[in-house]
Amino acid sequence: MDAQGNPPPPLVVVGAADDDPLARARLLPWFDAPALADSTVAVVGLGALGNEVAKDLLLGGVGTLLLIDPDTVVGANLGRCCLFTPQDAAARRRKVDAAAEGLRRLRPAGRPPAGAQLIVLPSTIEQALEDHREQLAKVDLFVGCLDGIGPRLTLCALAIHRQVPYVDGGIEGLRGRVQVSTPRGSTCYECTLNATHRAVIEQHYRCGGGAATVVTPAVPAEVSTVAVVAGVCAREVFKLLCKVEETLLSGVWYYDGWAGTAQTLDLAPSPSCSTHGSGEAGPLTVRGARPTAEGPSIEVREGTR
Ligand SMILES: [Zn+2]
Repeated sequence: MDAQGNPPPPLVVVGAADDDPLARARLLPWFDAPALADSTVAVVGLGALGNEVAKDLLLGGVGTLLLIDPDTVVGANLGRCCLFTPQDAAARRRKVDAAAEGLRRLRPAGRPPAGAQLIVLPSTIEQALEDHREQLAKVDLFVGCLDGIGPRLTLCALAIHRQVPYVDGGIEGLRGRVQVSTPRGSTCYECTLNATHRAVIEQHYRCGGGAATVVTPAVPAEVSTVAVVAGVCAREVFKLLCKVEETLLSGVWYYDGWAGTAQTLDLAPSPSCSTHGSGEAGPLTVRGARPTAEGPSIEVREGTR
């Protein structure tokens, strides 16, 4: 304080860059803020992984987020979902509404980057295809944060049909997986399915095609693995939208949080895939690992809600 009681002048003059939430990201040579602001990304599934991915995409500058989930918030979500509050759980609010409100707390209207728009669809992806086809037609990229194989297959097929990328994330306990499928890629989520997954799918549908009632036990999950897997999903989205696809994950990225390791499984198109059935199936290889006679098994992790 000086003799008049005034505080000393600041040592650092705050300039315009200090008011820009994306100032540090813009220092990355590949970061394309206008492309991100012009993009629409659908986050399908607003459980723990969807919460974290939506948060990352909003803070990272994606202009429009389409939030899709039919469920409501419960107390068990609060230990892993950064956007939900105890009030949301007490009121059993729809996850899409609670997530949108949580995102608005992070980026109030009128604050830069301007134009962040949130669209909520309180439905399954299958129902959204029936009721909101026009909204889905505007999506530039889908992110699956789901806990079932069937909805993932629907998303995979939708992305292939729309010729847009699909980023799939899943978690079980301290393990996680991320798969990036692009229109120019040679494999998709369905290519990763094995006989076990197909048996699970058959269990969920009757012979006539209707859905059967199957009670699936909750999978273990904790917040730190959610953050890691969501971060990888979001980073691949940023790469895709900023058109730096040469550095994209290929195959399936597996994370073992207990060991603190990750490995990528390269995939060949599966002859049993309805999209890539004409492709030639080849052996699976793990980068940096010694191949075995059988090759590593592929296991799809259930997502965390
Ligand atoms: Zn495929």
